[in-house]
Amino acid sequence: MTKYIGAHVSASGGVCNAILNAEAIGADAFALFTRNQRSWVSKPLDPNDVEAFKLLLHERGFSADHVLPHDSYLINLGSPDEETLQKSRAAFLDEMQRAQQLGLKLMNFHPGSHLNKVSEEECLDQIAREVNWALSRTEGVTAVIENTAGQGTNLGWRFEHISRIIEGVEDKSRVGVCIDTCHTLAAGYDLTTEMGYNFCFDDFDRIVGFKYLRAIHLNDSKKGAGSHVDRHESLGMGMMGKEFFTRFMRDARFDNMPIILETPDPTRWAEEIAWLRQLERS
Ligand SMILES: [Zn+2]
Ligand SMILES: [Zn+2]
Repeated sequence: MTKYIGAHVSASGGVCNAILNAEAIGADAFALFTRNQRSWVSKPLDPNDVEAFKLLLHERGFSADHVLPHDSYLINLGSPDEETLQKSRAAFLDEMQRAQQLGLKLMNFHPGSHLNKVSEEECLDQIAREVNWALSRTEGVTAVIENTAGQGTNLGWRFEHISRIIEGVEDKSRVGVCIDTCHTLAAGYDLTTEMGYNFCFDDFDRIVGFKYLRAIHLNDSKKGAGSHVDRHESLGMGMMGKEFFTRFMRDARFDNMPIILETPDPTRWAEEIAWLRQLERS
């Protein structure tokens, strides 16, 4: 199999539970939070849990290459407010360090918001500086920029935003991109038709480059193209259309990277994964 598919599973009760939860839905990739995603402070990972995680991951046949920790929702590396920026900087470093401790290679983050206080360019350049700062204090973990729906003043919804951040990152080997398909549609890239699909990913390749693509959030969307509204939907039940998922599963450009469902109904994940595998084969 060349596509590695999973979901953003719960790690409640300890990081090892994420592995078991992923296994239970037939996943061979997964995403998780390694700290409380809605709090600025989190207690350090227990070294026993870290060792157990590494052993169990191997034992259950997962590769660290296909595990995608997601950062806390509070972090805004582009914040124009000094206090929020300092908290974000510390929390982002902590996220990167946790990924490193767990032996993982990727850390997925939302770029940030300018809150109408600074220009888009200033905000994007600040995000790149913050990524540089965290990369210089960690090893082996790639900072993976997620594209956004462009809700409010969130940046990262245009591929140009992402390429500007990458431009500002010194170590290009440790910066990457995660494409969220719901966010992409909401941002205005119409993935629902073959022409729109080709246009979108040609644009991505020209502006950012597939060589930076490290992960996918595979979500359907409640809202249509250009809505700038971030509302995930279960696969096949939203605006993306089933043809999109068939096209995606047969597109080799998305091989060998974690493909993560963040769809709203966890009871459907096993079924959704099985459906995708069927599309891949048929
Ligand atoms: Zn995200
Ligand atoms: Zn989303």
